[in-house]
Amino acid sequence: MTSAVERFERAPDERFAIVSSTPYVLLHVAVIAGMWLWPPTWELFFVMVGAYYLRMFGITAGYHRYFAHRGYKTSRVFQFILALLGTTASQKGVLWWAGHHRHHHKFSDMDEDIHSPKRGFWWSHHGWILCPKYVEAPLHQIKDFAKYPELMFLQRTWAVWPFVFGGALYLMGGMAWAFWGAMVSTVVLYHGTFTINSLAHVWGSRRYDTTDTSRNNFWLSLLTMGEGWHNNHHFYQSTARNGFFWWEVDASYLHPEGALVVRRGVGSAPAADVGARGPQPQVRRAARGGAGRALRLPGLAPRRDAAPAGPA
Ligand SMILES: [Zn+2]
Ligand SMILES: [Zn+2]
Repeated sequence: MTSAVERFERAPDERFAIVSSTPYVLLHVAVIAGMWLWPPTWELFFVMVGAYYLRMFGITAGYHRYFAHRGYKTSRVFQFILALLGTTASQKGVLWWAGHHRHHHKFSDMDEDIHSPKRGFWWSHHGWILCPKYVEAPLHQIKDFAKYPELMFLQRTWAVWPFVFGGALYLMGGMAWAFWGAMVSTVVLYHGTFTINSLAHVWGSRRYDTTDTSRNNFWLSLLTMGEGWHNNHHFYQSTARNGFFWWEVDASYLHPEGALVVRRGVGSAPAADVGARGPQPQVRRAARGGAGRALRLPGLAPRRDAAPAGPA
Protein backbone atom coordinates (compact mmCIF):
# COMPACT_ATOMS: atom_id res chain seq x y z
CA MET A 1 0.00 0.00 0.00
CA THR A 2 1.28 3.43 -0.88
CA SER A 3 0.33 6.19 1.47
CA ALA A 4 -0.15 9.79 0.52
CA VAL A 5 2.98 11.76 1.34
CA GLU A 6 1.54 15.21 1.64
CA ARG A 7 -0.84 15.94 4.51
CA PHE A 8 -3.51 18.62 4.70
CA GLU A 9 -4.68 20.11 7.97
CA ARG A 10 -8.39 19.96 8.64
CA ALA A 11 -10.25 23.00 9.95
CA PRO A 12 -11.26 22.94 13.64
CA ASP A 13 -14.89 22.26 12.68
CA GLU A 14 -13.92 19.26 10.54
CA ARG A 15 -14.13 16.56 13.19
CA PHE A 16 -16.12 13.43 13.99
CA ALA A 17 -19.22 14.63 15.86
CA ILE A 18 -20.84 12.41 18.48
CA VAL A 19 -24.47 13.37 17.86
CA SER A 20 -24.42 13.12 14.07
CA SER A 21 -22.38 9.89 14.23
CA THR A 22 -24.69 8.10 16.70
CA PRO A 23 -27.08 6.40 14.22
CA TYR A 24 -24.10 5.20 12.19
CA VAL A 25 -22.33 3.80 15.26
CA LEU A 26 -25.52 2.24 16.63
CA LEU A 27 -26.16 0.46 13.33
CA HIS A 28 -22.71 -1.14 13.56
CA VAL A 29 -23.36 -2.21 17.16
CA ALA A 30 -26.80 -3.59 16.22
CA VAL A 31 -25.30 -5.60 13.38
CA ILE A 32 -22.79 -7.25 15.70
CA ALA A 33 -25.40 -7.87 18.42
CA GLY A 34 -28.00 -9.17 15.96
CA MET A 35 -25.73 -12.03 14.88
CA TRP A 36 -26.77 -13.85 18.06
CA LEU A 37 -30.47 -13.40 17.35
CA TRP A 38 -30.32 -14.25 13.65
CA PRO A 39 -27.21 -16.37 13.07
CA PRO A 40 -25.98 -16.65 9.51
CA THR A 41 -27.30 -19.31 7.14
CA TRP A 42 -26.63 -19.71 3.43
CA GLU A 43 -30.06 -18.30 2.66
CA LEU A 44 -29.43 -15.20 4.76
CA PHE A 45 -25.98 -14.79 3.28
CA PHE A 46 -27.45 -14.69 -0.24
CA VAL A 47 -30.15 -12.24 0.88
CA MET A 48 -27.38 -10.01 2.23
CA VAL A 49 -25.27 -10.27 -0.93
CA GLY A 50 -28.29 -9.71 -3.20
CA ALA A 51 -29.38 -6.61 -1.25
CA TYR A 52 -25.78 -5.39 -1.32
CA TYR A 53 -25.23 -5.60 -5.07
CA LEU A 54 -28.75 -4.44 -5.95
CA ARG A 55 -28.19 -1.21 -4.04
CA MET A 56 -24.53 -0.94 -5.01
CA PHE A 57 -25.85 -0.74 -8.57
CA GLY A 58 -28.06 2.17 -7.49
CA ILE A 59 -24.97 3.89 -6.08
CA THR A 60 -22.53 3.17 -8.91
CA ALA A 61 -24.72 3.29 -12.03
CA GLY A 62 -27.12 5.80 -10.48
CA TYR A 63 -25.65 8.17 -7.90
CA HIS A 64 -22.16 8.07 -9.38
CA ARG A 65 -22.07 7.52 -13.13
CA TYR A 66 -25.45 9.03 -13.98
CA PHE A 67 -26.15 11.80 -11.46
CA ALA A 68 -22.61 12.92 -10.60
CA HIS A 69 -21.07 12.47 -14.06
CA ARG A 70 -23.93 12.24 -16.55
CA GLY A 71 -22.05 9.40 -18.19
CA TYR A 72 -25.13 8.25 -20.12
CA LYS A 73 -28.74 9.14 -20.73
CA THR A 74 -31.90 7.43 -19.64
CA SER A 75 -35.61 8.20 -19.29
CA ARG A 76 -37.01 10.42 -16.54
CA VAL A 77 -38.82 7.42 -15.07
CA PHE A 78 -35.67 5.29 -14.91
CA GLN A 79 -33.74 8.29 -13.61
CA PHE A 80 -36.15 8.31 -10.67
CA ILE A 81 -35.85 4.54 -10.18
CA LEU A 82 -32.05 4.82 -10.09
CA ALA A 83 -32.25 7.62 -7.53
CA LEU A 84 -34.72 5.66 -5.41
CA LEU A 85 -32.59 2.52 -5.54
CA GLY A 86 -29.52 4.50 -4.49
CA THR A 87 -31.48 6.18 -1.70
CA THR A 88 -32.32 2.81 -0.11
CA ALA A 89 -28.55 2.39 0.51
CA SER A 90 -28.81 5.04 3.25
CA GLN A 91 -25.95 7.15 1.90
CA LYS A 92 -28.00 10.34 2.10
CA GLY A 93 -29.90 11.88 -0.78
CA VAL A 94 -28.91 11.67 -4.41
CA LEU A 95 -28.27 15.41 -4.76
CA TRP A 96 -26.12 15.46 -1.61
CA TRP A 97 -24.07 12.49 -2.82
CA ALA A 98 -23.65 13.54 -6.44
CA GLY A 99 -23.08 17.22 -5.59
CA HIS A 100 -20.26 16.41 -3.19
CA HIS A 101 -18.79 13.98 -5.69
CA ARG A 102 -18.63 16.63 -8.41
CA HIS A 103 -16.75 18.81 -5.94
CA HIS A 104 -14.30 15.92 -5.35
CA HIS A 105 -13.51 15.73 -9.06
CA LYS A 106 -13.08 19.48 -9.38
CA PHE A 107 -10.56 19.62 -6.55
CA SER A 108 -9.20 16.06 -6.31
CA ASP A 109 -6.51 15.88 -3.63
CA MET A 110 -6.17 19.64 -3.60
CA ASP A 111 -6.74 21.76 -0.49
CA GLU A 112 -10.45 22.09 -1.23
CA ASP A 113 -11.07 18.33 -1.65
CA ILE A 114 -13.30 17.55 1.34
CA HIS A 115 -12.50 13.84 1.49
CA SER A 116 -8.96 13.53 0.20
CA PRO A 117 -7.01 10.88 2.17
CA LYS A 118 -4.41 13.62 2.59
CA ARG A 119 -6.78 14.97 5.23
CA GLY A 120 -6.64 11.64 7.05
CA PHE A 121 -7.49 8.09 5.94
CA TRP A 122 -10.49 7.56 8.22
CA TRP A 123 -11.67 11.07 7.55
CA SER A 124 -11.77 10.26 3.82
CA HIS A 125 -13.48 6.93 4.52
CA HIS A 126 -16.38 8.15 6.67
CA GLY A 127 -15.38 11.07 8.91
CA TRP A 128 -16.44 13.76 6.44
CA ILE A 129 -19.86 12.12 5.97
CA LEU A 130 -20.49 12.22 9.72
CA CYS A 131 -19.31 15.82 10.08
CA PRO A 132 -22.13 18.38 10.63
CA LYS A 133 -20.27 20.85 8.41
CA TYR A 134 -21.13 18.82 5.30
CA VAL A 135 -24.66 17.74 6.14
CA GLU A 136 -26.34 20.08 3.62
CA ALA A 137 -26.77 19.03 0.00
CA PRO A 138 -24.54 21.26 -2.20
CA LEU A 139 -27.32 22.03 -4.67
CA HIS A 140 -25.22 24.61 -6.50
CA GLN A 141 -23.05 21.71 -7.72
CA ILE A 142 -25.99 19.83 -9.14
CA LYS A 143 -28.45 22.38 -10.49
CA ASP A 144 -29.09 20.24 -13.57
CA PHE A 145 -30.84 17.60 -11.43
CA ALA A 146 -32.09 19.82 -8.58
CA LYS A 147 -34.68 21.18 -11.02
CA TYR A 148 -36.62 17.90 -10.89
CA PRO A 149 -39.23 18.01 -8.09
CA GLU A 150 -39.27 14.22 -7.72
CA LEU A 151 -35.51 14.21 -7.07
CA MET A 152 -35.85 17.04 -4.56
CA PHE A 153 -38.56 14.98 -2.87
CA LEU A 154 -36.19 12.00 -2.59
CA GLN A 155 -33.45 14.32 -1.35
CA ARG A 156 -35.68 15.66 1.44
CA THR A 157 -37.07 12.26 2.44
CA TRP A 158 -33.93 10.14 1.95
CA ALA A 159 -33.90 8.80 5.52
CA VAL A 160 -37.31 7.15 5.03
CA TRP A 161 -36.41 4.93 2.07
CA PRO A 162 -33.88 2.60 3.75
CA PHE A 163 -36.68 1.74 6.21
CA VAL A 164 -39.09 1.09 3.34
CA PHE A 165 -36.47 -1.26 1.87
CA GLY A 166 -36.09 -3.02 5.23
CA GLY A 167 -39.88 -3.25 5.59
CA ALA A 168 -40.19 -4.90 2.18
CA LEU A 169 -37.60 -7.49 3.20
CA TYR A 170 -39.47 -8.06 6.45
CA LEU A 171 -42.67 -8.77 4.52
CA MET A 172 -40.82 -11.22 2.29
CA GLY A 173 -38.83 -13.15 4.89
CA GLY A 174 -39.43 -11.84 8.41
CA MET A 175 -36.93 -10.22 10.77
CA ALA A 176 -34.04 -12.44 9.73
CA TRP A 177 -34.32 -11.18 6.14
CA ALA A 178 -34.73 -7.56 7.30
CA PHE A 179 -31.67 -7.88 9.55
CA TRP A 180 -29.39 -9.44 6.95
CA GLY A 181 -30.78 -7.70 3.86
CA ALA A 182 -31.22 -4.21 5.29
CA MET A 183 -28.91 -3.87 8.30
CA VAL A 184 -25.89 -6.13 7.71
CA SER A 185 -25.99 -5.42 3.99
CA THR A 186 -26.17 -1.65 4.57
CA VAL A 187 -23.10 -1.66 6.82
CA VAL A 188 -21.12 -3.70 4.29
CA LEU A 189 -22.41 -1.40 1.55
CA TYR A 190 -21.23 1.65 3.50
CA HIS A 191 -17.70 0.38 3.73
CA GLY A 192 -17.69 -1.04 0.21
CA THR A 193 -18.65 2.35 -1.21
CA PHE A 194 -16.42 4.36 1.11
CA THR A 195 -13.32 2.41 0.06
CA ILE A 196 -13.39 4.39 -3.18
CA ASN A 197 -12.82 7.65 -1.33
CA SER A 198 -10.20 6.13 0.98
CA LEU A 199 -8.46 2.97 -0.32
CA ALA A 200 -8.85 3.73 -4.03
CA HIS A 201 -6.74 6.85 -3.45
CA VAL A 202 -3.90 5.03 -1.66
CA TRP A 203 -3.88 1.33 -2.69
CA GLY A 204 -3.36 0.09 -6.24
CA SER A 205 -1.63 0.94 -9.47
CA ARG A 206 -1.70 4.08 -11.59
CA ARG A 207 -2.03 3.73 -15.37
CA TYR A 208 -2.48 7.46 -15.86
CA ASP A 209 -0.35 10.17 -14.34
CA THR A 210 -3.29 12.19 -13.12
CA THR A 211 -2.83 15.15 -10.80
CA ASP A 212 -4.63 13.28 -7.99
CA THR A 213 -3.75 10.11 -6.04
CA SER A 214 -6.36 7.82 -7.66
CA ARG A 215 -5.50 4.11 -8.14
CA ASN A 216 -6.76 1.11 -10.06
CA ASN A 217 -7.53 -1.87 -7.84
CA PHE A 218 -9.01 -5.20 -9.01
CA TRP A 219 -10.26 -6.24 -5.56
CA LEU A 220 -12.04 -2.98 -4.96
CA SER A 221 -13.65 -3.33 -8.38
CA LEU A 222 -15.21 -6.65 -7.41
CA LEU A 223 -16.52 -5.08 -4.23
CA THR A 224 -17.88 -1.97 -5.93
CA MET A 225 -19.07 -3.23 -9.31
CA GLY A 226 -16.24 -1.57 -11.22
CA GLU A 227 -15.57 1.59 -9.23
CA GLY A 228 -12.16 0.25 -8.23
CA TRP A 229 -10.80 1.36 -11.64
CA HIS A 230 -10.59 4.73 -10.01
CA ASN A 231 -7.46 5.94 -11.77
CA ASN A 232 -9.19 5.20 -15.09
CA HIS A 233 -12.18 7.09 -13.78
CA HIS A 234 -10.26 10.16 -12.65
CA PHE A 235 -8.53 10.20 -16.00
CA TYR A 236 -11.77 9.93 -17.97
CA GLN A 237 -14.53 10.78 -15.58
CA SER A 238 -17.53 11.17 -17.85
CA THR A 239 -17.48 7.68 -19.33
CA ALA A 240 -20.22 5.26 -18.33
CA ARG A 241 -17.56 2.54 -18.30
CA ASN A 242 -14.72 2.48 -15.77
CA GLY A 243 -13.00 -0.75 -16.86
CA PHE A 244 -11.22 -0.02 -20.14
CA PHE A 245 -10.26 -3.64 -20.95
CA TRP A 246 -12.16 -6.92 -20.88
CA TRP A 247 -10.21 -8.03 -17.81
CA GLU A 248 -11.04 -4.85 -15.92
CA VAL A 249 -14.25 -6.20 -14.42
CA ASP A 250 -16.88 -3.49 -14.37
CA ALA A 251 -20.23 -5.00 -13.39
CA SER A 252 -22.05 -1.64 -13.35
CA TYR A 253 -21.48 -1.11 -17.04
CA LEU A 254 -24.22 -2.35 -19.29
CA HIS A 255 -23.52 -2.39 -22.96
CA PRO A 256 -25.67 0.13 -24.83
CA GLU A 257 -27.08 -2.41 -27.30
CA GLY A 258 -28.52 -4.63 -24.61
CA ALA A 259 -29.14 -2.30 -21.74
CA LEU A 260 -32.26 -1.06 -20.10
CA VAL A 261 -30.37 1.75 -18.43
CA VAL A 262 -28.15 3.03 -21.18
CA ARG A 263 -30.26 4.14 -24.08
CA ARG A 264 -27.97 6.39 -25.99
CA GLY A 265 -25.09 8.81 -25.74
CA VAL A 266 -22.70 6.56 -23.89
CA GLY A 267 -19.26 8.01 -23.30
CA SER A 268 -17.50 4.67 -23.15
CA ALA A 269 -13.86 3.93 -23.72
CA PRO A 270 -13.63 0.35 -24.98
CA ALA A 271 -10.09 -0.86 -25.46
CA ALA A 272 -10.78 -1.93 -29.04
CA ASP A 273 -11.38 1.69 -29.99
CA VAL A 274 -8.61 3.36 -28.09
CA GLY A 275 -5.66 1.04 -28.51
CA ALA A 276 -3.83 -1.43 -26.34
CA ARG A 277 -2.82 1.08 -23.68
CA GLY A 278 -6.26 2.55 -23.15
CA PRO A 279 -7.21 6.19 -23.72
CA GLN A 280 -4.15 8.39 -24.02
CA PRO A 281 -3.02 11.03 -21.54
CA GLN A 282 -3.48 14.08 -23.72
CA VAL A 283 -7.25 13.85 -23.44
CA ARG A 284 -6.91 13.95 -19.65
CA ARG A 285 -6.44 17.72 -19.87
CA ALA A 286 -9.95 18.05 -21.22
CA ALA A 287 -11.32 15.72 -18.60
CA ARG A 288 -10.36 17.97 -15.75
CA GLY A 289 -12.66 20.77 -14.78
CA GLY A 290 -16.00 19.28 -13.89
CA ALA A 291 -18.56 16.65 -14.56
CA GLY A 292 -20.30 16.10 -17.83
CA ARG A 293 -17.69 17.69 -20.09
CA ALA A 294 -17.67 16.42 -23.65
CA LEU A 295 -14.52 14.45 -24.40
CA ARG A 296 -13.15 13.27 -27.69
CA LEU A 297 -11.14 10.11 -27.57
CA PRO A 298 -9.22 8.88 -30.60
CA GLY A 299 -11.51 6.63 -32.62
CA LEU A 300 -14.60 7.42 -30.60
CA ALA A 301 -17.51 9.52 -31.70
CA PRO A 302 -18.10 12.60 -29.53
CA ARG A 303 -20.69 12.14 -26.83
CA ARG A 304 -24.11 13.08 -28.06
CA ASP A 305 -25.39 13.92 -24.60
CA ALA A 306 -22.87 16.61 -23.76
CA ALA A 307 -25.13 19.64 -24.06
CA PRO A 308 -28.53 18.95 -22.50
CA ALA A 309 -28.88 17.95 -18.88
CA GLY A 310 -31.35 15.43 -17.58
CA PRO A 311 -33.12 12.47 -19.07
CA ALA A 312 -33.54 11.67 -22.71
ZN1 LIG B 1 -11.56 9.93 -6.35
ZN1 LIG C 1 -16.53 10.07 -9.99
